Amino acid sequence: MSRILPLPDLLISQIAAGEVVERPASVLKELLENSIDAGAREISVQLMAGGVRSLRVADDGGGIAAADLPLALARHATSKITSLEDLEQVDSLGFRGEALASIVSVARLQITSRQQDAPHAFRIDGQLLSVTPAALDAGTAVEVSDLYYNTPARRKFLKTEQTEFAHCDEIFRRIALARPAVALQLQHNGTLKHRLTAGDLPQRITALLGEEFVAQARAISVDAGTLRLIGFAALPAYSRASRDAQYFYVNGRFVRDKLLSHAARQAYEDVLHGQRHPAYALFLELDPGEVDVNVHPAKIEVRFRDARAIHQFVFHAVQRALATSASHAEPIRASAAGAFASNAMPAMPRFQSGLSVEQPVAAYLDSMRLDNSRPATTFADAPTSPLGYALAQLHGIYILAQNAAGLVLVDMHAAHERILYEKLKNALEGAPATQQLLIPALLHLSAQEMATAQEQIATLRLLGFDTGAAGPQELVVRSVPELLANAPLPDLLRGLLAEFKEFPASEVITARRNELLSTMACHGAVRAHRALSVPEMNALLREMENTERSGQCNHGRPTWTQFSIADLDKLFSRGR
Ligand code: ADP
Ligand code: MG
Repeated sequence: MSRILPLPDLLISQIAAGEVVERPASVLKELLENSIDAGAREISVQLMAGGVRSLRVADDGGGIAAADLPLALARHATSKITSLEDLEQVDSLGFRGEALASIVSVARLQITSRQQDAPHAFRIDGQLLSVTPAALDAGTAVEVSDLYYNTPARRKFLKTEQTEFAHCDEIFRRIALARPAVALQLQHNGTLKHRLTAGDLPQRITALLGEEFVAQARAISVDAGTLRLIGFAALPAYSRASRDAQYFYVNGRFVRDKLLSHAARQAYEDVLHGQRHPAYALFLELDPGEVDVNVHPAKIEVRFRDARAIHQFVFHAVQRALATSASHAEPIRASAAGAFASNAMPAMPRFQSGLSVEQPVAAYLDSMRLDNSRPATTFADAPTSPLGYALAQLHGIYILAQNAAGLVLVDMHAAHERILYEKLKNALEGAPATQQLLIPALLHLSAQEMATAQEQIATLRLLGFDTGAAGPQELVVRSVPELLANAPLPDLLRGLLAEFKEFPASEVITARRNELLSTMACHGAVRAHRALSVPEMNALLREMENTERSGQCNHGRPTWTQFSIADLDKLFSRGR
């Protein structure tokens, strides 16, 4: 064993940088937050090569005194708190005084700053720590270049320029969304990507999330003493295949918090399909003393003193907002099935009208690979088939069937999803059969989705999707897995790209295998409200009998339930 020695300062910062400076986007986050803390009304960002080559943030905020410039780069030096009491009431985005020190330990950095009353600006070079006179109007400009120039091992973790830019873009949007009064612009490689003028929240949300989002969203504004929730929650019709349109802020800070996303998710429960994700921009405000933001160096997690109360508050606020317009909501599963399964009397189903046949039956049969010409099961066979014989389809969601024991109730989508899952799993053992599209499909993707699609082009091919770039944000799809020939392609691909996002191409198929299969199965499975004929329903029942583990969908929910005659008798207090 070696002797115990204190670590040198530079190394301490480099270790800390591991948590704070994960990639260019995390540098951008820290610099933008500093500008906002400095009271900036206008911020401009310039990135080169995804922010890896250079990243410059200029603001018109309060500036830094020349004498303080070296301190700004020192570890644990901050102008934002001075005591534990301050920490507990912190209302600035920064307070740990370690961001600039971490950045300067893994990149080249220069700060130019001028306070209002200073005769001119000063510049500090992060490596030399020399302070020299410079030219700048009031405010601060921070330039960071050659990220990880001195730590090549970390540089290897950086992804393509496109991906790093996409992450920067997302950080910029997150921060800009919460600061409508601040004008912001973003340039990448000299091209203007965003120009946001100062305005109010609805304007900012429209600029960043689009008119479609706003048109399909309900405004929320609920005050409950020290708690306040404002923002927009999109109606289910605007739901997404991934979580990419979920913006939740606590006291102006973007957070990814399980408690909050769970509360929101639950508010959507009755109206949103299982694989879809709600879209929202929600701003929770509360007494800073009620929430601990000092949980993680990147401050993306928070801890609430009264978690339960916060959960309830958010849940009710969002649910009420959505309920006011339930008649526009896409009618999907309700929780009536749960009541049924626990042997209670079923609640009145809450489906709205408007059942529709989404795709021709032939397409459906094709997607299920069933033989249309096979003679329908005859009623006499029913007792010998475990799942029995179909009687009817209920609200486009359930299949009612009669078997020897009594009544069988099947969740059509969940069951088909399970069958497809198993088929896809088998198909993936080898090379899945693909189907060439007669007319290649063109998908318009976000910058981030496009970057992921290009990185994972080989993975997509292994899954049976032949794709290529047709433009900066256009993906062309030439073939699809045969089993998914009738799945809605845009949703399917977006769902897959969301699964890929965090994984290197080589790992995605192994590490995310089950998620990938689930996503594909869900999109490929017959949708609720598609009318099925009796032979189609029987074919599905037979497939279920022939599929392993068909009793549970991929999410562990049951795919069918048996009600024996005795169960039914009990419902009617009918003695025998
Ligand atoms: P923190 O933000 O946690 O205080 P940082 O390392 O990010 O720590 O910044 C250190 C200090 O540098 C800040 O407390 C602030 O006083 C000063 N500073 C950094 N960026 C700016 C800026 N854009 N405008 C004015 N002051 C800044
Ligand atoms: Mg900071």
